[in-house]
Amino acid sequence: MRQLSFVFADPPSAAAAPPVEAASPAENVEPHAASLFRLARVRDPAFERRVAELFIAAAHERRARQIQRAKVSFRPFRSTLYSFRIAADGQAMLRFHIAFRLAGEAVITQACHLMLARTRRAKAGVERGAYDAFIAGLPPQVFRLPGVRRPSPRARSGPGRFRSLDESFDRINRSYFEGQLARPKLCWSPKRSRRILGSYTPEDDRLIVSRVFDAEHVPLFVLDYLMYHELLHKYLGIGRRQDGKRCMHGARFRALEKRFDRFEEAQAFLEAQRF
Ligand SMILES: [Zn+2]
Repeated sequence: MRQLSFVFADPPSAAAAPPVEAASPAENVEPHAASLFRLARVRDPAFERRVAELFIAAAHERRARQIQRAKVSFRPFRSTLYSFRIAADGQAMLRFHIAFRLAGEAVITQACHLMLARTRRAKAGVERGAYDAFIAGLPPQVFRLPGVRRPSPRARSGPGRFRSLDESFDRINRSYFEGQLARPKLCWSPKRSRRILGSYTPEDDRLIVSRVFDAEHVPLFVLDYLMYHELLHKYLGIGRRQDGKRCMHGARFRALEKRFDRFEEAQAFLEAQRF
């Protein structure tokens, strides 16, 4: 059967994937996000028919006369939000990311118009406020939305064997940020990495400290220095140079970093790598 194919951001791997639902979300996902995810896994044939109606209505509005019927399914896509295809007999096959099971009719209608707008110019004219707000409001790690890097699943929050990240955060927040900084997710790295000592990712507000610091013989002030360094990244955000390039350790960062009480000593310890 010849098919007219209009596929949007739908790589072959996703198209070929069997229609199985995703595994349960990462364990350190907030309860609210987890319950949304569970909800989105439940099939609702009446909703599927309603979405098909909305698509046909949008197609008529756009005078896409070749489209006669629509069939809708929801998939746990990894890299696409939706795709559709029109068979020569006028049947449209729509596939939405499972997150759209939580969407209202305005969101669905706008998504249908985005699918049906063929040219860049037509797309630019589509009303998409509800659609954009819906996507922006989804917990991205739970739904594996396109363009979102999943955090390392093995980095764990929770107490270390010898050191507490929570207590380190409290000390630094009190001493250097007047207690004003909101606590990020604090995790020990899965491995005792000596290459990457710490990291902070603003996307998921997550601060990871290498497990090499969870040791009795590493002085507490060295752990605190690392905590301070990573919290400065949270505090300052991603710096940009004049040419727009990312700059993580600019002049302001360096100046603030030197305010750490035992800055020189901590640096010396890290350089000697006496872990
Ligand atoms: Zn840094």
